[in-house]
Amino acid sequence: MMTQRPKSEAPHALDLVPLAVPTIQGNEWRYIKECLDTNWVSSVGPFVDRFENDIAARVGTRFGIATVNGTAALHVALMLAGVQPDDEVLVSALTFIAPVNAIRYVGAWPIFIDAEPDYWQMDPSGVVDFVEHGCRWHNGALHNRLTGRRVSAVIPVHILGHPVDLDPIIEISRKYNLKVIEDATEGLGATYKGRSLGSIGDIGCFSFNGNKIITTGGGGMLVTSNEEWARKAKYLTTQAKDDSTEYIHSEIGYNYRLPNLLAAMGCAQLEQLETFVAAKKRIAARYTEGLSLPGISPMKEALWASSSSWLYTILVDKAAFGTDSRQLMRSLSSKNIQTRPLWQPIHLSKAHRGSDAIRMPVAERLYEQALSLPCTTSLGDEEQNKVIEQVRAIAAGTIPQEAPLCN
Ligand SMILES: *Cc1c(COP(=O)(O)O)cnc(C)c1O
Repeated sequence: MMTQRPKSEAPHALDLVPLAVPTIQGNEWRYIKECLDTNWVSSVGPFVDRFENDIAARVGTRFGIATVNGTAALHVALMLAGVQPDDEVLVSALTFIAPVNAIRYVGAWPIFIDAEPDYWQMDPSGVVDFVEHGCRWHNGALHNRLTGRRVSAVIPVHILGHPVDLDPIIEISRKYNLKVIEDATEGLGATYKGRSLGSIGDIGCFSFNGNKIITTGGGGMLVTSNEEWARKAKYLTTQAKDDSTEYIHSEIGYNYRLPNLLAAMGCAQLEQLETFVAAKKRIAARYTEGLSLPGISPMKEALWASSSSWLYTILVDKAAFGTDSRQLMRSLSSKNIQTRPLWQPIHLSKAHRGSDAIRMPVAERLYEQALSLPCTTSLGDEEQNKVIEQVRAIAAGTIPQEAPLCN
């Protein structure tokens, strides 16, 4: 009976150093086989319940509700938070696009908040400034002075594994009755002042896509300690069925369930979370040490934070380093090393034209300069040294950055 992945089916060429691929070396085969053996493969099953309980226990919330992906968790979170069509929701400008898309799914509008320059996260002073000076309290709710729309929630996105400085955001949100939805996808296993990300706001959301800290292939989870919301989340994600036998519905529901097969993989992956985070941290520390070069700024970690170090990212200052982030990406690519820029800040995205689009100077600079380096949890020292040596060689000018021009 085969219980190991055949090595010949490795997902990438032997000499390619990929950006981030899953590490599958725990009970994945065993648990998934258990689903196949027992015929519990679909949208309910013991692994779904267990995965929900295990994530909630790990994060420190009372409830976890599994979803088909992280974007679905965000969509449901916004509905639970009572965000209405034409409301506004504050969100990080520098983020993967999913939370901003979810804001539009409920008919609300994003208000973008710039990143802060130290840890590259949503700037809490930007949130406080907007609420205190850009809004007014009217008829028992907060309204944007410019648009007149109600402002009902904030989505701090903990990017790259580092926490957002949440305290000032939570404080002002309590004062003006804004719901706080943490997009903690990239920060599973990270803490802010000792507390797990996802458990600090009203609702936390996670994704288990292939490149995340743990993966189910595709999947997500909503966590909260609010029992009524937890019940509502289960209801909305399972087609809003009102009766256990009859097909009776009093609301529009969604098919956002996570199959038991995938939850089984999630349970196995979650057992390895501490190992994965330790590996990510070790990789990050080795990069920071090996890449102390003029023009390269490593990721920093705040004193009040423990980062999951999900995706190790550097800033490349062209003037000091001699080449920009995109040229560096192409040079490394020619050496079979996969790297990637950060996301286009969403206020610049055509997908969200029509939303508030003032300049976000920090997010724009980070977008221009950032490059994420290979950091699969099973990355070996030798492979990582290859990356470090190539960057150092480019810095020293011993590797041409582009094909030489003929003159
Ligand atoms: C990946 C990611 C998501 C989306 O998750 P999916 O499971 O792909 O829908 C949402 N937010 C952040 C910050 C992410 O990195």
